[in-house]
Amino acid sequence: MEGIEEFLAARKEKGLLRALNPVSKRAEAKVTIRGQDYIDFSSNDYLGLSRHPRLIEEGRLALEKYGSASSASRLLSGDLELHHILEQRTASFKNKESALIFNSGYQANLGILSSLYRRGDCIFLDRLAHASIIDGALLSGARILRFRHNDSCHLRELLKKERQRHKKALVVTETIFSMDGDRAPLKEFVRLKKEFDFQIMVDEAHATGIFGRNGSGVVEEEGLSGDIDLIMGTFSKALAGFGAYLATSRTIVDYLVNTCRSFIYSTALPPAVIASNIASLSLVVSERERRKYLLESALYLRAQLENRGLKVRGSSQIVPVIIGDNDKTQEAARILQSKGYWALPIRPPTVPEGESRLRFSLTFFHTRKILEDLLAAINEAKI
Ligand SMILES: *Cc1c(COP(=O)(O)O)cnc(C)c1O
Repeated sequence: MEGIEEFLAARKEKGLLRALNPVSKRAEAKVTIRGQDYIDFSSNDYLGLSRHPRLIEEGRLALEKYGSASSASRLLSGDLELHHILEQRTASFKNKESALIFNSGYQANLGILSSLYRRGDCIFLDRLAHASIIDGALLSGARILRFRHNDSCHLRELLKKERQRHKKALVVTETIFSMDGDRAPLKEFVRLKKEFDFQIMVDEAHATGIFGRNGSGVVEEEGLSGDIDLIMGTFSKALAGFGAYLATSRTIVDYLVNTCRSFIYSTALPPAVIASNIASLSLVVSERERRKYLLESALYLRAQLENRGLKVRGSSQIVPVIIGDNDKTQEAARILQSKGYWALPIRPPTVPEGESRLRFSLTFFHTRKILEDLLAAINEAKI
């Protein structure tokens, strides 16, 4: 296997080798890894719903009623009524006509983009868009144009230059960015839409469950569900389940059922997962104090870090502290780990060169006391 050993050796040499860290135990904010307990700051279980008795109970009932598997793809006999209930609930949660479930967010982005766009079209991507969005756009064969992060002026320049030359056009962004924790200027994109005729797709992976009156996401909070053509998101993060959704028009759902390869050629999600996703949608609406508490924790942590002179980004439950240098970031993460905090260093190629960071992902389980202790540890570590 020519080149593979050299690749691994080079990654190791630069301190960029990625490795797996098996968790043996999990309890609220705590994870146990290789016998050591840590406070977990890298989980996406933002609302702490993964241990909610109702999710577990609904999952268990479905497991007993339907068995462990869906046993086929949706277009064969894997299409349970449960899937349709989840799709209806998702459509109304997102205030769209229709919804389609995918087996993961990665598969959703890959399939949606490659099925709806092709050669002759163009896709405008935020420069920090998630890998699954980039891969879907690449697979589509459309021309890809990347605009500077959250920069609607740059997007406008690109649209002015390129829109006319292509048939269909799409602008894609995350609503809350996974590595920066900041928010896309959706209203500005919607304004551009009137001038240039394109569709908008958003990825609400990190916003679903957290923002908006009902916790539906940033699109709900900003009142834009009528202006965004394709609203994608996952059940795997704040909703503490698995799988993903696209909320859109009935016509697009029908088209995807007929053409989307990542939807067609994969076994349907198991009944227990679907049932707990359904329960989770109603919990998010009814237990709104969870997201309120979470966002207050994020405000507190961000303010305290800034008071210490640290460079903090974003405005969500994702709190990145930019350190810059790869080695310094690695060292900071190592010190925090030795003090019992699991906050991983995020380095290139996940983020741009020179923007290495510690990323603190907050959850409902992070009490004020935990955050105060973390801040004390950060002081001691002289980060
Ligand atoms: C996590 C994530 C995905 C992938 O979702 P999975 O369900 O984990 O495959 C897609 N987009 C964004 C922005 C994400 O953060």
